[in-house]
Amino acid sequence: MKVINLDETREKLSNKVLNNIKASHDLGLLRCVQCGMCTSVCPGAKHSNYNPRYMVEKVLENDEKIIENKDIWNCFYCYTCHSVCAVGNSPCEVNQILRQIAIDNGKEDEKLKYFASYGETFLDIGIGGMPKSFFMTLHEDIEGWLDFKAELEEIRKELSLGPIQMPQESIEEVRKLLNKMNFDKRVKRLKKEEKE
Ligand code: SF4
Ligand code: SF4
Repeated sequence: MKVINLDETREKLSNKVLNNIKASHDLGLLRCVQCGMCTSVCPGAKHSNYNPRYMVEKVLENDEKIIENKDIWNCFYCYTCHSVCAVGNSPCEVNQILRQIAIDNGKEDEKLKYFASYGETFLDIGIGGMPKSFFMTLHEDIEGWLDFKAELEEIRKELSLGPIQMPQESIEEVRKLLNKMNFDKRVKRLKKEEKE
């Protein structure tokens, strides 16, 4: 059986993960027993080389190379691993933190640039929405999608649902908060890379 060495220097990455603002206060990272249950239920692992058990192992070994490992970008954030882990670890959460570290260090996978447009919708309409740049692709892939989009407000009215659009002042408020967190700059950086 492989023994994970948690000496002082090697603990660095696991500490970084545990101290990250995204980490739950009771994240059981250090309790991982490498049982592999997370990998056995993981759809990302089923369809790619991604392996949440291995990712957690690398974090516990303080192997920072895992941050640049392209496979970590194949997690779907479905939280199945989170729900089956017997020791309260959440590879899903660990993954989110690793990706954030990668983004902070300009080491994000190129897949991320396609999602920058989703980020932009938070700035434009205050909520996550389908980016306009995807409309034509959806139109080609899904029959009637553009008509549905054009008639959405009417359909909502018929269903007694309110308007999808948030009030302008709420959008401004969300935008202000996001700008304070430099979210706009991060999206711009990713969009710029998209054009390169
Ligand atoms: S994170 Fe949980 S399920 Fe995955 S290997 Fe560790 S103990 Fe097992
Ligand atoms: S959240 Fe990610 S790591 Fe966990 S089971 Fe889903 S795809 Fe796999």
